[in-house]
Amino acid sequence: MDPYRFFVPTEIHFSPGAIGQVGRQAARFGRKVMLVTGRQSSRRSGALDGAVDSLRAAGLEVIVFDQVEENPSDRTVAAGARMAREKSCDVVVALGGGSPMDAAKGVAILAVLDGPLAQYYGSGRVDRPVLPVVAAPTTAGTGSEVTPYAVFVESENDLKCSVASPHIFPRVALLDPELTLSMPPAITANTGIDALTHALEGFTSVKAQPISDQLALRAIALINEHLPAAVSHGDRLEPREHLLHASMLAGMVIAQTGTTLIHGMGYAPTTRYGIPHGLANGVLMDQVVIFNGERNPDRYAALALALGGTVESSMAPQEAARTLRELRSRVGMPGRLRDLGVAQGDLEDFARQTMLHSRNLDNNARDVTLKDVLKIYQDSY
Ligand code: NAP
Ligand code: FE
Repeated sequence: MDPYRFFVPTEIHFSPGAIGQVGRQAARFGRKVMLVTGRQSSRRSGALDGAVDSLRAAGLEVIVFDQVEENPSDRTVAAGARMAREKSCDVVVALGGGSPMDAAKGVAILAVLDGPLAQYYGSGRVDRPVLPVVAAPTTAGTGSEVTPYAVFVESENDLKCSVASPHIFPRVALLDPELTLSMPPAITANTGIDALTHALEGFTSVKAQPISDQLALRAIALINEHLPAAVSHGDRLEPREHLLHASMLAGMVIAQTGTTLIHGMGYAPTTRYGIPHGLANGVLMDQVVIFNGERNPDRYAALALALGGTVESSMAPQEAARTLRELRSRVGMPGRLRDLGVAQGDLEDFARQTMLHSRNLDNNARDVTLKDVLKIYQDSY
């Protein structure tokens, strides 16, 4: 067996109602809390009030920063960090989907280290401890509550840029499936498919390893089984529980393996058209599987099996792609870039942008050229 390393230092609490512990957990790290959240959903669902009550009941002072947009920009992070510095916050609570969780990580960095955020893009450039983060996801998608990554839109060039550092793993993750009950069907589907792509990219990454493989296969099977019910019966807790658990497992996977070509290609449609992150990945995933699968059919046979398909090894990538398309349609997700309003004339530009995401491409098990990427976009159009 090849040597491997597995590292996730986050303390995980999973239970319905777990958000009620946020005060007690945050109090372990300080007295003044910056709570980072999105603009609407956590207020509407009551999650924000619940979190603030718990923090106050624990005797903490709470400063709420609720200006995080979808796909947060470096500017938003800078504004949050300014506030955190002014108020001398010593702990950051993240409440929301991947966008608020990543923004909270950015705030935790810039509350301690000098800006701009751009100097920390890349791997290992945050080289010392920053403010502790307690993360409570309200989507079952990114797994950011257990990853060392944070993704931002750089306002300078509108590119998605990410920070990777062990210092930005949240210290505590509070996984409360009740917080995800308020997601409408489309957000449930998009975020669930994002988690699925994390698991499948991790499983086929050059950095795949035995522990993350087990987590990935389990996450894929759980999402395949429970995502349709979470979309069609969003008020049922049980499918929500399985999905939140699966998205966390998939987060632990990419914490080891990184993401690969699907994510590398998904960023440009998101920054250019505002297409949600999981949806962009979802329309590309089957064609990327067919492209990558040619090189390692055995891995794809295991993938197809986890997706509930029947497998003949020579056809495994096609079979895996077929089950992915089937799942996509069962959750009501559009299947083509053209359905999302993308102009065909943009595909070349998307392909050029993809080539800039060298970390994703390095993790991809098959070498990729500009021409290959363009062909995959065209085949997904
Ligand atoms: P998101 O951008 O955080 O949220 C998407 C939408 O869902 C927003 O409109 C949000 O509303 C709403 N929403 C969130 N929770 C809800 C709930 N419980 N009920 C109703 N509506 C809810 O979506 P996301 O897919 O979770 O995060 C995407 C971001 O994460 C992207 O920037 C992506 O690049 C990044 N990402 C990070 C990692 C990582 O490891 N760090 C991994 C993958 C992706 P509000 O804005 O009003 O809250
Ligand atoms: Fe993702």
